[in-house]
Amino acid sequence: MRLTRYFLPTLKETPQEAQIASHRLMLRAGMIRQESAGIYSWLPLGHRVLSRIEQVVREEQNASGAIEVLMPTIQSAELWRRSGRYDDYGKEMLRIIDRHEREMLYGPTNEEMITDIVRQFVKSYRTLPLNLYHIQWKFRDEVRPRFGVMRGREFLMKDAYSFDLDAAAARTAYNKMFVAYLRTFARLGLKAIPMRADTGPIGGDLSHEFIVLADTGESGVFCDKRWLEMDVLEEAVDFDSDLAPLVKKYTDLYAATEEKHDPDAIPADQLVAARGIEVGHIFYFGTKYSKPLGAMVTNQEGQLVPVEMGSYGIGVSRLVGAIIEASHDDAGIVWPDPVAPFHVGLANLRQGDEACDAAADGIYQQLTDAGLDVLYDDRDARAGEKLADLDLIGLPWQIQIGPRGVKAGTVELKRRRTGEKQEISAEAAVNALLSGGAT
Ligand code: ATP
Ligand code: MG
Repeated sequence: MRLTRYFLPTLKETPQEAQIASHRLMLRAGMIRQESAGIYSWLPLGHRVLSRIEQVVREEQNASGAIEVLMPTIQSAELWRRSGRYDDYGKEMLRIIDRHEREMLYGPTNEEMITDIVRQFVKSYRTLPLNLYHIQWKFRDEVRPRFGVMRGREFLMKDAYSFDLDAAAARTAYNKMFVAYLRTFARLGLKAIPMRADTGPIGGDLSHEFIVLADTGESGVFCDKRWLEMDVLEEAVDFDSDLAPLVKKYTDLYAATEEKHDPDAIPADQLVAARGIEVGHIFYFGTKYSKPLGAMVTNQEGQLVPVEMGSYGIGVSRLVGAIIEASHDDAGIVWPDPVAPFHVGLANLRQGDEACDAAADGIYQQLTDAGLDVLYDDRDARAGEKLADLDLIGLPWQIQIGPRGVKAGTVELKRRRTGEKQEISAEAAVNALLSGGAT
């Protein structure tokens, strides 16, 4: 993509309203624009990152056997009256009246709707297990929307819902999601630690919040320091195998939010106290919705029983902010490779100079032909401005082309994360990018 044909409205000044790094950087890098409190437009660069994250989430959901659907954002109040949640949900729910005076709402979550779909179409245990998910916008009229996309009112969530015949099968579904979540966050370059969460009246131990450690996190958290060294991607996972041992391995290591922390459960010298951001939440709740909504199946004995359910959420738009909180420096964002909006930023430092233009055009063509996503800064702007913008938007690799190098037959290849620079031939730079994991 040539920058002169793109839309990247970066800001020079630090926006006053933004209190944390990710919010400031997303505004400065031209990723989002606030439309109302907690409601954002996603500009091209932000939209690319959001889509990349969505794709990783989708791949792991699919790998675990969940099936994608798409439910609407607008739901009927009548459905929510049947579960008893229409009144309980209170002011967080945005209520809408249509032209026929029917009460509607902008969905804050989809348990009711998905349960009603299953009620209509699933009649026998033979159709189970079933796990349906979608990636859809939600609305919650939060008391204090803040920190940009971290606590928005309109936000993008992946929510999955599992349906099983009995509690044992529901635990299997839970384990699959647990492992898929570990893998998803690791693939996004994050260390997200599963922490025991409140199960409320349901009881049991099947609720975990996945928390990314960051100083600006809203929750106080505690975990075993061995968590910091864990690499969950090191073993391949077969989702059809028994995942209980793997889940046990990860739940045996101590991790708890403030509300659940027990200082006696772990020696003080093994403990890390930190702050964290909740990026996912998984929850088994049995027949809480299937009973009132009548989602029943016949079991092997021919009896009608309510299905056992769980729900599993990931804050897709919150993840954009969480990743930046975990990965930035004074100059700007440092994208982990898998979510970077472009792989390479190419800066022509002397636009209009014939030799520089030819060298930059050539390298742009080669990298693009090889399938890399390249953002080519071909603006007529000062070198310093181009370099500052490239650091700000945080692409994993930079190539700088200037008159001195072109004369000597070299370009400068820079790794954004380490700042490490190499003066090498254009050909060597292209090869390094093609072989060096820049895809
Ligand atoms: P929180 O405790 O942060 O308010 P929650 O417990 O209400 O979150 P869930 O209902 O578990 O959230 O939703 C699943 C996921 O959706 C959360 O783990 C979080 O990542 C994301 N999420 C929830 N509320 C918001 C919000 N207002 N803005 C952005 N993401 C959100
Ligand atoms: Mg939660």
